[in-house]
Amino acid sequence: MKIINIAIDGPAGAGKSTIAKLTAAKLGFIYVDTGAMYRAMALSCIRNHVSSENEEKVIEICEEADVTIEYKDHEQCVLLDGENVDSYIRTEEVSRMTSSISAYPKVREKLLFLQRGIAKNHNVIMDGRDIGSNVLPNADIKIYLTASVETRARRRYLEQKEKGFDVNLEDIAKDIEERDYRDMHRDCAPLVIAEGAIVIDSSNMTIEEVVDEIIRLKVKAEEG
Ligand code: C5P
Repeated sequence: MKIINIAIDGPAGAGKSTIAKLTAAKLGFIYVDTGAMYRAMALSCIRNHVSSENEEKVIEICEEADVTIEYKDHEQCVLLDGENVDSYIRTEEVSRMTSSISAYPKVREKLLFLQRGIAKNHNVIMDGRDIGSNVLPNADIKIYLTASVETRARRRYLEQKEKGFDVNLEDIAKDIEERDYRDMHRDCAPLVIAEGAIVIDSSNMTIEEVVDEIIRLKVKAEEG
């Protein structure tokens, strides 16, 4: 049977992971959150007290870090040197470190192999920044999911608050804008609208509407 790959890219807080996770569950696909892999490497740098500007040391730490993913009840868990680090990788400190170190080509190279390997053997919905443009340029469906900065900041704020973090809406909006700028302007695999990608602006859409739209596109693609 033909393997189907769906790529979802877009800026921070556009709802990619929520939507990809739900769509994957509906389709019986594997959901791959590539941001979580970069976050695990960033966590390793933080734990080793390495500055994001020290490229040589960052690369050394990332080369040593054993990042793998596994699935429990269809949920992706990221393991760093065998430890499930899911509960440590969503802080703003890790977000900032991730967006800085993911600009280094050597850091990306390592994860590229892992990501392509998973997609080769499974029906996947993979989300990130460079999936349609770089990791899976031949993906069956490419989505660029976006929303206004205000909408994205508000969503992230509510998500973080719910997790019990003490956050401030303006700080989150500033962080998101800075992170988007870095992700879009780096030399290696920047965030772009991949060739052939369908742009979905979710500012005025519910999660269910976006999921239904992706499923509709998948059915359409299968019909040829
Ligand atoms: O998607 P998430 O917000 O978890 O991603 C965190 C950071 O990881 C992004 O801001 C980006 O710098 C980096 N990333 C990337 N390429 C990907 C996925 C994430 O550079 N495919």
